[in-house]
Amino acid sequence: MTHTETDAIFTDVLVIGAGPAGMTAGLYAARAGERVIVLEKETPGGQIVLSPRVDNYPALPQVSGTELAERMQEQLEQSGAELKYEEALEVTPEDGGFLVRTDTACYRCLSVVLAAGARHRALGLAGEEALTGAGVSFCAVCDGPFYQGRDVAVIGGGNTALQDALFLSGICARVYIVHRRDVFRGDSALEKELRARDNVTFRLNAVAEKLQTDGEALTGLTIAHQDTGERETLPVEAVFEAVGIVPQTAPFMSLLGLAQEDYLPAHENGETALPGLFVAGDCRKKDLRQLATAVGDGANAGTAAAGYARRRRGETGK
Ligand code: NAP
Repeated sequence: MTHTETDAIFTDVLVIGAGPAGMTAGLYAARAGERVIVLEKETPGGQIVLSPRVDNYPALPQVSGTELAERMQEQLEQSGAELKYEEALEVTPEDGGFLVRTDTACYRCLSVVLAAGARHRALGLAGEEALTGAGVSFCAVCDGPFYQGRDVAVIGGGNTALQDALFLSGICARVYIVHRRDVFRGDSALEKELRARDNVTFRLNAVAEKLQTDGEALTGLTIAHQDTGERETLPVEAVFEAVGIVPQTAPFMSLLGLAQEDYLPAHENGETALPGLFVAGDCRKKDLRQLATAVGDGANAGTAAAGYARRRRGETGK
């Protein structure tokens, strides 16, 4: 049954996004006694499911992102929160609460936690879109196994690039890591591990310039060495782009009076300038985007959103 504005489904707290931040927010709000619905447009876990190995989540060294996501989902559902596979398209403030439209239904709630996360950034190279799935990838865990025993390149210098390169070096014949500077942004522990691998070749101070193709699939990557201006074509069959993330906040910017898609400003407890609207995880404006900080954000925002809903009920008697 499709629920419209007139017969919208009611919940106390509605969480948008089932990544680590959203699932933690849902868990905390449900444990605080609120009715909670968590909306997810794709796969629970968000970006963490793309992480082959998470090394810096306390007490769980070397756990895979997929396993962590599955455990978080299980715990969320056991808490009584309801997980629904829908995409939130619009949030409208209404009588001190909110009306939330998704691709299939409408919800009314007292508070909202926005934990919509972020998506990968693309380099914008010529032919990139057409070659995605035919040599260009944004997910080493998903696509790496297709290139077993082959030569591949990873572009980027953050934790995602370093983790992807480590994962791929266990599968592929050779992994080139192409980074535009000579210093990595990612953890030095990961860089050290990579430098100890025989089949990893570093191309630093180098930028990806051209995807070479035979008309169907990728046949190489031409890079420009910034210090000499020389060009080099790496004989790779796949290029894994890991050049950062952009927040998935476009449908929600106007709620806070903001124009362009950007990270959303919120206090440490997730509170925003709009009463009842809370923000958690990678889409929040902050310095450190890690699994541990996403979970911390979720705990704060879930608790604050539950408190807000409770106060609203007290005020309205609903
Ligand atoms: P990131 O930390 O923002 O790194 C992006 C990398 O791509 C940077 O090295 C950047 O170079 C490079 N880059 C950006 N635009 C580029 C361009 N146009 N051309 C060439 N290179 C470009 O992104 P991320 O690695 O995806 O990580 C996102 C967030 O998730 C980070 O906060 C990260 O720490 C976190 N994360 C954590 C873990 C973990 O803790 N286990 C795992 C993965 C990700 P510059 O360095 O020169 O700017």
